[in-house]
Amino acid sequence: MTAITPRSIPFFNYAGAFAAEEDTYIGIFRDILRRGAFIQQRDLVEFEARLAAYLGVNHAIGVGNATDGLLMAFRAAGIKPGDEVIFPSHTMVASPASAAQCGGVPVPVDCRDDHLIDPAAIERAITPRTRFLLPVHLNGRTCDMDAITAMAKQHNLTIIEDAAQGLGSKFRDRYAGTWGLAAAYSFYPAKILGCMGDGGAIVTNDAGIAHRIRLLRDHGRDEVGEVMMWGLNSRLDNLQAAILDHQFKDYQTIIDRRRTIASLYQQELGDVTQLTLPPAPGSDPDHYDTFQNYEIEADRRDELKAFLKDRDIGTLIQWGGKAVHQFHALGFKVSLPNTERMFQRCLMIPMNLTLSDEDARYVAGVIREFYGC
Ligand SMILES: *Cc1c(COP(=O)(O)O)cnc(C)c1O
Repeated sequence: MTAITPRSIPFFNYAGAFAAEEDTYIGIFRDILRRGAFIQQRDLVEFEARLAAYLGVNHAIGVGNATDGLLMAFRAAGIKPGDEVIFPSHTMVASPASAAQCGGVPVPVDCRDDHLIDPAAIERAITPRTRFLLPVHLNGRTCDMDAITAMAKQHNLTIIEDAAQGLGSKFRDRYAGTWGLAAAYSFYPAKILGCMGDGGAIVTNDAGIAHRIRLLRDHGRDEVGEVMMWGLNSRLDNLQAAILDHQFKDYQTIIDRRRTIASLYQQELGDVTQLTLPPAPGSDPDHYDTFQNYEIEADRRDELKAFLKDRDIGTLIQWGGKAVHQFHALGFKVSLPNTERMFQRCLMIPMNLTLSDEDARYVAGVIREFYGC
């Protein structure tokens, strides 16, 4: 066996993401600052147009973050106090919080083996009070939207998609975020398209929803400043929009790179029986995954995490290691066996653009060493 030189691999390298293109970013900052173009300027409009064109939707609206985006989508869709909203408990608390903040009643359900919402679990959770389905396209993989759309039709439910992690991923050749009445994307720095602070967008094909969200994000004001409803202050900063617009021009390259890293992990770890890897790129013709995260399941997960930390390799257990229904303060009294089992075993290993092929092989090598294979 050849000796491998130890290296330090952070889970996410925030400074590295900037350093990789420092001069370009400084150029963007200088341009915006010299123009004094901070709020709702042409850079925002250009980014919104690019996002809408990419997804093939009628409207993309930049907002302060995905959580506000979901909240505004629920409000624009007319959520009423007591409306039940079915969501997967394996998600960030932001997903159900957006509905709860509008008086909705979040109803957590179980996930499938691919860590996404289980359509059969949705079916079991539907009651006469159910009004919304909130599928979450986690880890850069799109939910089984055929089953979910069919159920929504049958029971007359509205779909709002949490596509915070799903930009660019597809199910049956259709993008995450283009199936429901509206969808939210997040541009939080560690997201696949990440800005330098908070940012998000809502997309929809519905002109009425788009109009109401444009009002809601800017204090309920229309173009001439007339207040049409109670609103929020949740705009996407122009500077962030310019940064995003720059990154988005090369978005396919970003996706390709992540899929390459996923293939590398598959190749290096596919035979390790103690692990369950995410579906490999191209292994299922229904899914086009963008690997926002590379979330594995691992035997002796906590020991593996500590072993990797000792070797200076950063990993993360999503949402602090708990599903939403497991946070006691939120008052849920359900048990969701798949989700709970998954949270004993899940671990995200490094997946980002600052990771080289050698880095990925090194991470895989240390994992193999841990299992003695
Ligand atoms: C990041 C994330 C959010 C929240 O996005 P923000 O832009 O930080 O508000 C919501 N849902 C999921 C699944 C996320 O990963």
